[in-house]
Amino acid sequence: MKLILLGPPGSGKSTMSERLTREFKLKHISPGEIFRDEIEKKPQLGREIKKYMEGGGLVPDNLTNEIIKLEVEKQKNFLLDGYPRTIGQAHALDKFAKIDKALLLEISKKIAIERISGRRICSQCETPFHIKFIPPKKTGICDKCKGKLMQRKDDAPASVKKRFQIYNVQVKPLKEFYKKKKLLTLIDASPSPERVYQEIKQIVK
Ligand code: AMP
Repeated sequence: MKLILLGPPGSGKSTMSERLTREFKLKHISPGEIFRDEIEKKPQLGREIKKYMEGGGLVPDNLTNEIIKLEVEKQKNFLLDGYPRTIGQAHALDKFAKIDKALLLEISKKIAIERISGRRICSQCETPFHIKFIPPKKTGICDKCKGKLMQRKDDAPASVKKRFQIYNVQVKPLKEFYKKKKLLTLIDASPSPERVYQEIKQIVK
């Protein structure tokens, strides 16, 4: 199974990715994670990537597509989280993979901001938590690897608002693209993570 998961910040995308990849044994492919890894392991390519990431913009399509293609071609079953983000990436992906479904999580900006303020992520293994909805067993500590939980800098309300606006502009053409291909399913992401996950499961099964 080859899935794409789209959604604005605060829609529960990371949580749904984590559950879906575990239950359906899908390889989780996220450009953000891959880029951070490349920065650590490949200094030359990493320097180029870092320049874009630190500037707050996207890594150019040709570089992103190349890196994702290498990963995608290794996997039979995967979930793409954070890719494609541009219509150019969607066209590129279309050439190197046959996607089964594109799931789009929908949520209002107000609920997204409320949710994000409680969000924490493991500084070591990147497992997502939420102080209210998915609390760790021990405050501030990752259940999986005992890493320290932290709040991402860009989870501050002003930053979330900006990311939400950027997302809305970017997602429109992607929505059209996957709708035309009859691969798109819209999911109301405002109920509890458990309910949203159950709905997704029915669609994916
Ligand atoms: P994330 O971990 O999804 O927040 O991504 C971290 C950073 O990686 C972003 O701010 C971008 O600079 C870069 N990035 C992530 N996904 C993409 C993508 N699909 N295309 C280009 N750059 C990306």
